[in-house]
Amino acid sequence: MNIQELWDKFGKIFRDFDLESGAYKAPGRVNLIGEHTDYNDGFVMPMAIEKEITMLAQLRPDRKVKFYSLDYDQMVEYDLDSLEYDEENIWANYIMGVIDEIQKLGKSLQGFNLMFTGNIPQGSGLSSSAALEVVTALAVTDLHKIKIDGIEMALLAQRAENNFVGVQCGIMDQYISRLGQKDQALLIDCRTNDYQLVPFKDENYQIVICNSRVDRGLVDSKYNERRSECDQAVEFFAEKEAGEINALRDVDLETVEKYKAELAENIYKRAHHVVSENARVLESKKALEADDLQKFGDLMYASHKSLSEDYEVSCKELDILVNLAAEAEIEGARMTGAGFGGCTVNLVKKDQIDQFIDLIKKNYKEKTGIDAEVYVSNPGEGARKL
Ligand code: ADP
Ligand code: MG
Repeated sequence: MNIQELWDKFGKIFRDFDLESGAYKAPGRVNLIGEHTDYNDGFVMPMAIEKEITMLAQLRPDRKVKFYSLDYDQMVEYDLDSLEYDEENIWANYIMGVIDEIQKLGKSLQGFNLMFTGNIPQGSGLSSSAALEVVTALAVTDLHKIKIDGIEMALLAQRAENNFVGVQCGIMDQYISRLGQKDQALLIDCRTNDYQLVPFKDENYQIVICNSRVDRGLVDSKYNERRSECDQAVEFFAEKEAGEINALRDVDLETVEKYKAELAENIYKRAHHVVSENARVLESKKALEADDLQKFGDLMYASHKSLSEDYEVSCKELDILVNLAAEAEIEGARMTGAGFGGCTVNLVKKDQIDQFIDLIKKNYKEKTGIDAEVYVSNPGEGARKL
């Protein structure tokens, strides 16, 4: 549906109150490099993808909020003064969480209607949830003429997911969805919350995302296990080394190697991944700035090897996808997201894309019996009012 068709639909669903209205978009994202570094105070480098959630909104003269999900064909209604977790309509909690956080800032809201639709695959690690939060934050603050800068809005959207939805995500997803820009990746320092745009504009290359479509069943328990292993590593290094060590961010590769014999094997491997991955993110930034896509591709392969062998968060299917990319001599490939399923991100020469997609689909199906989904994207725009 184009925007006019969406407004027509909006007009059929809701009564027109002739009050402030607007249309907004926010994208999903793919993390180009920097995996499992965020909770170690490290660096990540995502880009926004050209898949988005579009939201139409209009104020109401009362204190009701009504949300219509076009994709689910579901309508919900709540009272602004008593927002509570909805066990039945899970999707509505991402929106309520944002409203709740805006109200916590001491801003008084009036009622409004929202209608939205999206084409970001859900639950595949491309952050449809952050897109939904960010587009809601943009819509609600804009309708009420509440001034809030990009960083504040991203942090607010993150708090919505932490506090209302109950998912302890980091800052990456909401940051990139809110602050991303066309033809740019975003380097984020997860310690200081600073960010920097990094040019990603080589006409010869595109990003191809391959969805393994493996259920990420293990991801939660393994995620907690890895976090605790990183904590143990930090404790170890803080005891051994002078200077302040609060996170693996504060440790270099030399130090990790120095204690290899003393560390339990799993702790050594986890630390080795995080510390080397942080270095790869910073090197990737330099490579992109120098338009050295070959170098960047090599760093992506190195990241995958480290995630698979040292951090042990890959799985058979993700390894198959990356191996197929390597065999096809694609510039770069790695798993992206927490692991145990989800997607790979691939750096592919434009004139090889069709061939690459055919090869992935055919061979992945042959080896796993699963039909992979494939999306091609340039670095897309961040959240915006239309
Ligand atoms: P991810 O963020 O990786 O896509 P999550 O499980 O964090 O996966 O978030 C997905 C959830 O976000 C969906 O289950 C749904 O509740 C909500 N959501 C995302 N996109 C939409 C949409 N287009 N319509 C309704 N709900 C959506
Ligand atoms: Mg999510």
